[in-house]
Amino acid sequence: DEKRSLIIVSNRLPLSVKRVDNHYESSVSSGGLVTSLSGLTKSTQFQWFGWPGMEVKDNTDREEVSKSLSKHNAVPIFLDSGLAHEHYNGFSSMTLCIPGRWHSLAHKTTDRILWPILHYQSGVTFDDGPWQAYKRVNELFADQVADAAGNGTLIWVHDYHLMLLPELLRTRLRNQGKACAIGFSLHTPFPAGDFWRNLPVRKHIIEGLLASDLIGFHTEEGARTEIPNQIQYKDRLICTGRFIIGIDPQKFTDTLQTSEVQARIAALEQRYKGVKVIVGVDRLDHIKGLTQKLKGFDTFLDDHPELQNKVVLIQVAVPSREDVKEYQDLETELSTLAGKINGKHATPEGTPLLYMHRSVPFTELTALYSIADACLLTSTRDGMNLVSFEYVACQENRHGVLVLSEFAGAASFMREGSIPFHPANKSEMSEALFEALNLSDAERTKKYMYLRDFIHEHTSARWGQTFIEKLSARTWDRAGAS
Ligand code: UDP
Repeated sequence: DEKRSLIIVSNRLPLSVKRVDNHYESSVSSGGLVTSLSGLTKSTQFQWFGWPGMEVKDNTDREEVSKSLSKHNAVPIFLDSGLAHEHYNGFSSMTLCIPGRWHSLAHKTTDRILWPILHYQSGVTFDDGPWQAYKRVNELFADQVADAAGNGTLIWVHDYHLMLLPELLRTRLRNQGKACAIGFSLHTPFPAGDFWRNLPVRKHIIEGLLASDLIGFHTEEGARTEIPNQIQYKDRLICTGRFIIGIDPQKFTDTLQTSEVQARIAALEQRYKGVKVIVGVDRLDHIKGLTQKLKGFDTFLDDHPELQNKVVLIQVAVPSREDVKEYQDLETELSTLAGKINGKHATPEGTPLLYMHRSVPFTELTALYSIADACLLTSTRDGMNLVSFEYVACQENRHGVLVLSEFAGAASFMREGSIPFHPANKSEMSEALFEALNLSDAERTKKYMYLRDFIHEHTSARWGQTFIEKLSARTWDRAGAS
């Protein structure tokens, strides 16, 4: 059997490249997208296109980077500084533009305009300069991917950084006489129609997307925003669907069994003997509702003086977009709030809130998930929220409780197995936490079993397979139609 050929395109390659002496070495980073491919390797030959995450100016260096990445089936898309200069200056008065800036300028559109709009945040200011950079980066991706595709290659594009890509690709492929099915997966929510009006260039974005043959969402967003399963647009038919992205639960259970993690779990259990542990793990982002989480926890502590010294919230806030002012301001707000809460509730025995503004190694993360009696996630909007899956994967022994905001994408599937609440309602959050910590063993196990079945059924491998099968079927549709 001949293998299908597949090109995956994402903004960043899921690899890290580093210079060692005078050559380059690259290693695969983990993550949902990467594990999703594990189910595809038998039937599919794939290549991954994306920005390598670093500036490479020199042509010889570029060749070396490409060579090193090719060992992992990855192809770098370098972003050219000369072009950046030319285009950027066409739209703005700034004269300085170094290579990395090109990408970071495009990122202004994605991080400061598209990301907030997709997550229903208002007060977004649109800027033409970054928008031009966004378009240009999408074009550069399109040039390289179209050239690399063969007739019949499946192309799977990922996320909001590349929403113009399907249309740009479609034009190029048509000119080159190649018939390729193009799939697009959005990893964020898809806001309701009216909200899109905040974006003056929405028409371009939607048209960019609508050149896909298949558009995948994580949840029912598409359906809720009245997007039907099939859209007839111009002369084309576009299928949309819900594809549940998951994790690889085995990776967590394997890590938990290592002696290193077992020792860490024992140490933490000893440290928190007689204390209920609540864990929170989030990127430091407005959409995660961290301010609401800390305030809700404060209310919970106010409501339950009897739990003094008997409960802690360990909150990992993973640094994110630290060069963006809104994110810096959020960090300042959170550390101030954390200080105030501990100032109010600390005793000589200790503090109830451990706010950690840093990332943690995977082994430490699994140990934390494993010792926690509850996991508190307070997203105000979230594409899916994989932390909720990961917590469940680490709870085989304890059957801890997931206290999950109703605005996390995951909440639409996990309601029955979790304790849902509205993140802006402090007393509702406080009650949800109290309920979580006081469930009977039987209730906890019942909820846990529900979630366990769910995450084992909807793995990342299955997600990748399902999407690709559906996309291949679209290839047949097209062949049948012509
Ligand atoms: N994570 C991480 N570093 C940490 C802690 C967590 O990379 O220090 C991971 C976590 O395991 C999860 C991901 O970050 O896989 C967060 O994914 P999620 O879908 O919950 O949210 P996102 O950050 O994509 O909005």
